Amino acid sequence: MSTERITHWIDGQLWDGPAERSGDVYDPATGQITKTVDFASGADVDAAVASAKRAFDTEWGRATLTKRMQVLFRFRELMNQNKEQIAALITDEHGKVLSDALGEVTRGLEVVEFACGNAHLLKGSYSEQVSTGVDVYSLRQPLGVVGIISPFNFPAMVPMWFFPIALAAGNTVVLKPSEKDPSAAMYMADLWKQAGLPDGAFTVVHGDKVAVDALLTHPDVASISFVGSTPIAKYVYETGTAHGKRVQALGGAKNHMLVLPDADLDLTADSAVNAGFGSAGERCMAISVVVAVEPIADDLVKAIETRMGGLRTGDGRKGSDMGPLVTRVHRDKVAGYVDAGVAEGADLVVDGREVQADGAADGFWLGPTLFDNVTPEMSIYTDEIFGPVLSVIRVQSYEEGMELINSHPYGNGTAIFTCDGGAARKFQNEVQVGMIGVNVPIPVPMAYYSFGGWKASLFGDTHAHGAEGFHFFTRGKVVTSRWPDPAHGGINLGFPTHG
Ligand code: NAD
Repeated sequence: MSTERITHWIDGQLWDGPAERSGDVYDPATGQITKTVDFASGADVDAAVASAKRAFDTEWGRATLTKRMQVLFRFRELMNQNKEQIAALITDEHGKVLSDALGEVTRGLEVVEFACGNAHLLKGSYSEQVSTGVDVYSLRQPLGVVGIISPFNFPAMVPMWFFPIALAAGNTVVLKPSEKDPSAAMYMADLWKQAGLPDGAFTVVHGDKVAVDALLTHPDVASISFVGSTPIAKYVYETGTAHGKRVQALGGAKNHMLVLPDADLDLTADSAVNAGFGSAGERCMAISVVVAVEPIADDLVKAIETRMGGLRTGDGRKGSDMGPLVTRVHRDKVAGYVDAGVAEGADLVVDGREVQADGAADGFWLGPTLFDNVTPEMSIYTDEIFGPVLSVIRVQSYEEGMELINSHPYGNGTAIFTCDGGAARKFQNEVQVGMIGVNVPIPVPMAYYSFGGWKASLFGDTHAHGAEGFHFFTRGKVVTSRWPDPAHGGINLGFPTHG
């Protein structure tokens, strides 16, 4: 079978240079290589950044707010018209089921819609007559060329957490998507061109560490927005800031669901299954640990197990509930955690290694897996697995559950299930986690709030999108101004004070 070649998008068109290195892109439901993707060299990244800098210096950095807003509105319309095609590309390369892929495009579009409010969100402030004849006002200006580096699990939504706001604020973008599913980025690049964005303002380079390092060290890249695993997020943060860049680096997760004895059992069991196995657990907001406060655990485990019996694992294009994992390597790594859980003494209630998937024999299949009686020192609890493996830990009290959650190194998302408002309020106050659900298992914030975790789930101090997004992608200036006036006060070498 012939394989399609995916290359970079530079200067508003496909790159026509040669590639020294490339990677394979798979269809995870068949296990076949369907495409190859060029890996950028340092020189290729230089060309991409130069193009983005030109676009910033000559066009987009000078475009009026109104013009930027109009281009964003057109992009939104084009995305809406093309979202099924983008979702299909995501399913082909990532494996997640079509409805889930469509969901991620829709959530990303919410950020585009939010960014259309740039004229309001970029307003400065003005104080008149702070001293006699003196006014003070603040401005926010774009940074210049900004870099975005994204993970495989949301090839459309995660880049959309950043680039609509970066562009709305007047920056130009170099995106380095995951090499595992690079096509959604290319599709969106073409839509930006159709929407009227100047060539170079949205640039895509593909590749691996070489491309990432070139962005992290490039003197003309002003900032880096990274999403991926914690070790790489830490590396990106340290290297980017050492090179003088503003960096936000979102890392991995281990999200706990605390279930109190008074929780609604049906709602809780449905939520645990949806949040544990949606997108085959390859979500940074997936629930991977259910912390059951006794005496609810027996009933809850039974209810989850029953629901898991109805899940269909298979090709995401065939109406399955859950697709394959992204690569064979990742599938085997996750299956290795199932082996480890058994070896470490957890009770394997549902074994996904035995799944009969509705798809090709060579697909990267692993079915939903449930462990009970997991304990905190087991690797299935300490590590981010990033697959369809749900662990139940039994505790005797709210306090014991809270101690567990707050002791874990990750702090991305968490949820409490209870009918007790006071307990939920105490939880949201005490828990050391960035995004919290109350009877909501995947509390991904709306675009006008900000997305981001605490502790090892985020390096840097700025979360994604919302007002923080506009803050990240702009720099502040404060102007103190006086126009000539006969009462200007003459020479005075003292430090300026106002009165
Ligand atoms: P990853 O860290 O392997 O890759 C992320 C990006 O970094 C990719 O573009 C990749 O090409 C690049 N990269 C990989 N290795 C590198 C290296 N050694 N040096 C420099 N760059 C490198 O992550 P992934 O497997 O693509 O995505 C899954 C991870 O992302 C999980 O840990 C998940 O929790 C995390 N994630 C976090 C969030 C969040 O908001 N916190 C959201 C989505 C995914």
